Amino acid sequence: MKALIFSDNYDMAKQIMGRAMQDSQFTLMTTESNEDLLYFGAEKVIFLKGQPVYSCIGETLISEFKKGYDFILISSTTIGRDVAAYVSSKLNLDYMPEVFNYRFDGNKLITKRFSLGGKVVLEEESDAKILTVTPGVGEGIKSERKSLSEELKIPDGPIKVLAINPKQSQGVDIEKAEVIVSVGRGLGKKEGLALIEQLAKKVKGEIAGSRPVCLDYHWLSEERQVGYSGKKVRPKLYIAIGISGQIQHIAGMRDSKTVIAINKDKNAPIFQECDLGLVADLYKAVPKLIEML
Ligand SMILES: Cc1cc2nc3c(=O)[nH]c(=O)nc-3n(C[C@H](O)[C@H](O)[C@H](O)COP(=O)(O)OP(=O)(O)OC[C@H]3O[C@@H](n4cnc5c(N)ncnc54)[C@H](O)[C@@H]3O)c2cc1C
Repeated sequence: MKALIFSDNYDMAKQIMGRAMQDSQFTLMTTESNEDLLYFGAEKVIFLKGQPVYSCIGETLISEFKKGYDFILISSTTIGRDVAAYVSSKLNLDYMPEVFNYRFDGNKLITKRFSLGGKVVLEEESDAKILTVTPGVGEGIKSERKSLSEELKIPDGPIKVLAINPKQSQGVDIEKAEVIVSVGRGLGKKEGLALIEQLAKKVKGEIAGSRPVCLDYHWLSEERQVGYSGKKVRPKLYIAIGISGQIQHIAGMRDSKTVIAINKDKNAPIFQECDLGLVADLYKAVPKLIEML
C-alpha cells in the first residue's frame, strides 16, 4: 500500500505516520515546518508554504496523488476536513470521515468510527480511498532513516486569507499531558475543584473534565473537556473522579495507558474501562489519597 498523508498539525502528523508504518509506504504533506517530522518513517516529507486555503492545499494533494498512491489519510482538523471533502469531490473518490481505527482486508478497507452522536461504533467495509482520521489513531515512532525533504508553494486560488487571529486560550494543552486528573458531575459543586487541584499537584497532572463540568456548568474551561466532542487524550495516567463513563467520555480517553476511577456507584460504566477502581465518595477518598501521596 502507498499512502499520501496530509496534516496541518504536528502531533497528528506523527500519530498518522505511526499508524501508516504498520502496512504502508507513505509521503507526508504538511503545513507544519518542524523538521523533526523527517524522522518518522515517511519516504518523503513535503513542506507546504503559503496561505492555508483548503482548495489550494487540495490541488497540491491531487497532483501528488496522481503520481501513484493507493489512498489518502488526512488529519481530522478544521482544514483537514475541508481538504478531504474537496479532494474527494474533485477526484470522484469515496471519502470516509472521522475514522479512529482502520485496517485492510485484501483490497477492502475496514474502518471504525463513532455514530449516532457517539452512542455506537460503526465498523464498515468500503472502497473509500480518502479518510479523515481522529487524534489517537496511532503513536509516532521515531525512525533512524531521514525522509527526503521537499518544499512546495501552495498555489494561489480564488480564496484569500485576510487574517489568522489566534483563539483566546488559557494555554492548556491536555492532549500533551502525561498525567490527567479528570472530574465529572459527581463533584457536585465548583468549590470541590480545590480538592482536585491538590491531587493534581501531587501527581503533577493537568486537570480535565467531562462535558457537563466544562460545557454545562463552566466549572472548567472548554479546552479541558475530554471526549467525543472534546479533546482526545492518551496520558500515561488518567484519574477519573465522579465520572460515570458514558461512551462519549470514553471516546476521548480510551487510549490512556493506565486508568484509575473513583465513583460512589459500583455499577458505574467507568469501572468497565479502568485498571484500578475505587468505589467511594470522592470527598472521602481524594483527601485520603492526597495524604498517602
Ligand atoms: C453528541 C454528544 C457528545 C458528547 N460529548 C461528550 C464529551 O466530549 N465528553 C463527555 O464527557 N461527555 C460528552 N457527552 C455527554 C455524555 O453522554 C455524558 O452525559 C457525560 O459524559 C456525563 O458526564 P459525567 O460522567 O460527568 O456525569 P454523570 O453521568 O452524571 O456521572 C456522574 C458520576 O458521578 C458519580 N458521583 C456522584 N457523586 C459522587 C461522589 N460524591 N463521589 C464519587 N462519585 C460520585 C455518580 O455515581 C455518577 O457515576 C456527549 C453527549 C452527546 C449526546
